[in-house]
Amino acid sequence: MTPATYNLWTIGCQMNEADALRAATLLEAAGYRPVPHAQEASLLLLNTCVVRQQAEDKIYSRLTFVTELKKRHPDLVVVLMGCLVGKNPLEIQRLQERLPYVDVFLPPSDVTPLREFLQARDMALPADEPDDDLPSPLPPSLAGRAIVAHVPAVLGCSHACTYCVIPYRRGGERSRPAAEILAEVADLAARGVREVILLGQIVDRYGLDRPGEIRLPELLRRVAAVPGILRVRFLTSHPQWITSELIATVADTPGLCPYFEIPVQAGSDAVLAAMRRGYTVAEYEALIARIRAAIPHAGLSTDVIVGFPGETAAQFEESMALMRRINPDMIRIAKYSPRPLTFSARHLPDDVPAEEKERRRSAMEAQLRVMLTEKNAPLRGQTVEILVESIEASGRRYGRTPDYKLVFVDHGTARPGELIRARIVWAGPFSLIATAAE
Ligand code: SAH
Repeated sequence: MTPATYNLWTIGCQMNEADALRAATLLEAAGYRPVPHAQEASLLLLNTCVVRQQAEDKIYSRLTFVTELKKRHPDLVVVLMGCLVGKNPLEIQRLQERLPYVDVFLPPSDVTPLREFLQARDMALPADEPDDDLPSPLPPSLAGRAIVAHVPAVLGCSHACTYCVIPYRRGGERSRPAAEILAEVADLAARGVREVILLGQIVDRYGLDRPGEIRLPELLRRVAAVPGILRVRFLTSHPQWITSELIATVADTPGLCPYFEIPVQAGSDAVLAAMRRGYTVAEYEALIARIRAAIPHAGLSTDVIVGFPGETAAQFEESMALMRRINPDMIRIAKYSPRPLTFSARHLPDDVPAEEKERRRSAMEAQLRVMLTEKNAPLRGQTVEILVESIEASGRRYGRTPDYKLVFVDHGTARPGELIRARIVWAGPFSLIATAAE
């Protein structure tokens, strides 16, 4: 019998990456080993994202390719996972009818159907495999190679921003028990992971849905104290839920990186209200000012949607101006697309033409490039701390600074997982080049 092999294809957010690794862990426990090309695999694992139309288009083009493969190899097992599948049994049934060549459907963060499928096929699973939705998070093939790991802390979301499909695909907000998260982090550290990124749609709300549970600041302190863990981050933050205690914790806790991901989405109060984000531009800016007063070198990443229903050219210019004022270290720019079931899709006409959305996106991207070129230029000559994540074939290393800047290190002997100091010799808008300091 040919050995069981799987190929993983995943798109979307960090939560999706974390989910995919859990499914991969299960497959490897059942004797599958990873292969880089779908053509060589006996099982295809496709982890999907539907947060924007663009992501959904990618899935359907991948599925066309998979259908062709399956026609030629009827034994090929196809596992479809993530937000396209969602959590609604009726919808999953309809998807099953539409995609008859898919063998297993996995809701986001839930690998139970895959476990059942493997068990039904008598694929050996170790007896001690925990029986929860989220088994051990690192497949053996990555042990010792994964330096950074994403760890879900809050699953789902209950905020219901008018544009956002996540609550409908990932379900309501629920925090995982801190004990479970900490055990998982200790397990990851034992397998070579050195940086942990705690995840949640509004990660700042960690614990609020679990009476008696610790909150995010305490969770971060405990994660940072796990032996072997050198760095900790958390994302995504919502402006309404970042507390002073959280900011102080980031300022005071060794290993907790000075870095915040706080999507603003728009620079106009009218648009923010139509999105039901729950804050004003002034409140957002006041928050950023508080963070920078406490942590002057904090890195800041934000998300902006352009072309939201009703957004005028002048309102878009308000987003442009806000970006110049807050001067972030990264912006994830998205063109609005209506998502099924969301309030905006049902009630707000998608009235900004496609070309105009593209014009706004590319204008903001061009501005970002200029802003980051200027912001990063003074880093030249400075020495920074880098956690080495990987060594490229050329011998070049790469990693990130505490404030999440991507750095390529030209020379040196550092191994992945080591913290090194390196002097920056070139600074571009989206990456830096450095030479190891010693
Ligand atoms: N929970 C996070 C992230 C949600 S999804 C938050 O508080 O915002 C990631 C990003 O995708 C969002 O920040 C938003 O910028 C973008 N996005 C979500 N829905 C979208 C839609 N319908 N159209 C375009 N972009 C969208």
